[in-house]
Amino acid sequence: MLERAQKRFFSEGEKIFTQGETGDCAYIIESGRVEVSVTSDAETAVLTTLGVGEIFGEMSVLDGSPRSASATAMEPCILIIVSSEALSERFQAADPVVRLLINVLLKHVRFSNQSQVKGLINLKASDAKVIASEDKEQQKLDALERLKLEADLKQGLDEKEFQLHFQPIVSMETCKIVGFEALIRWNCPTRGMVRPDVFMEIAEETSLIVPIGKWVIEKACECLAKFEGALSKGNIKNKIFMSINISGRQFHDVNFMNHLEATVANYSLSPKNIKLEVTERCLMEGTTALQAIKMSRAEGFLVALDDFGTGYSSLSYFNQFDIDVLKIDQSFVRSMKSGKKMRVVTQAIASMASGMELSSIAEGIETDEDYQSLKRMGCDYGQGYLFSKPLPFDNAYQYLINDLRSSDRAV
Ligand code: C2E
Ligand code: CA
Ligand code: CA
Repeated sequence: MLERAQKRFFSEGEKIFTQGETGDCAYIIESGRVEVSVTSDAETAVLTTLGVGEIFGEMSVLDGSPRSASATAMEPCILIIVSSEALSERFQAADPVVRLLINVLLKHVRFSNQSQVKGLINLKASDAKVIASEDKEQQKLDALERLKLEADLKQGLDEKEFQLHFQPIVSMETCKIVGFEALIRWNCPTRGMVRPDVFMEIAEETSLIVPIGKWVIEKACECLAKFEGALSKGNIKNKIFMSINISGRQFHDVNFMNHLEATVANYSLSPKNIKLEVTERCLMEGTTALQAIKMSRAEGFLVALDDFGTGYSSLSYFNQFDIDVLKIDQSFVRSMKSGKKMRVVTQAIASMASGMELSSIAEGIETDEDYQSLKRMGCDYGQGYLFSKPLPFDNAYQYLINDLRSSDRAV
């Protein structure tokens, strides 16, 4: 039930707002009729008559420009007030592309409103008002850039512009390779090498993540089979694993599990050598992801919780589903240097992992000091620039061969 303060009464002939004023709210007509008109010089044109249930006055609230028309009660009216906060919060929260479309539509509506007042069109001036603020220009650029990025991504997928790089993951005990993390790269002809941070978000917001994710799984499995080939050539019994990042949206694809299993079978791999890296965010997105994760584990795949502690993590997750590996985010490794508090937190995460019989992988190890501290804390595995940056396949393969050759491979 709306409070009284959110409604206003207007008597017949009363002005609700006047052209040129700053708009601080929009209105919904609860009862009565409202006339909307535009005046320029001495001429006035009625644009429209509105009735019960219709909204008006929203345009200047949305785009911040002055009222482009006047509104008058044609009979006694009760109007529901929609505050500018209520509208602009929703507007700001909307997808940038939707915001762009709304802004473009507003511009068209203003233009056609003006056109209705004969001889009074001054498009340049009204246009200038609409797009005056730099902020809005930026929003427009952002939204257009996202649309372009999306189109380029689609093309990138068709043109096979993606690559996988592989970052070695080592045993903290021996510094020998135990696995690789597959990390996507996009070699875009017009943008150069684009980081996943830039394009994966867009891919996730659109359905593009599904075909891209499928490609990642196929390529990562193909490469793991080649890495395994190197091991068997060297008569080495140990297995290495492949960590593959999976976005929450991929779990919503009904074919996800079938595709994963078929790919693994196609390359004669064992699911237990595949680690699916999922983020906390993905777990929060509902039961579909949780069920898919459960199913993956039942099929023998291992599941790693990526970026642990960086999101809105809740320790109760651990009660809801099982994981095998906890990845200690590089932000903890970084902040350990800043003082004792963060060292205690990092130690607590490492202890928690071992207490729950999960293995732990520390990310972003850049210095020997990082390595020594994390080793002392009991982390099982590590990855970071100290050992190697993510490498193209050929370099990763060579890295593995060299690693196998150098002294004994510890179990
Ligand atoms: P992530 O899964 O947390 O991957 C680790 C990121 O840290 C990688 O960035 C890696 O290059 C970087 N890194 C590794 N060692 C170090 C280090 O010692 N120091 C520093 N400063 N950074 C280090 P990258 O490759 O740019 O990937 C960024 C994120 O993009 C990944 O974060 C992951 O969330 C996402 N991503 C990458 N590939 C895929 C993919 O195939 N699928 C999905 N869904 N997401 C992916
Ligand atoms: Ca990861
Ligand atoms: Ca991570």
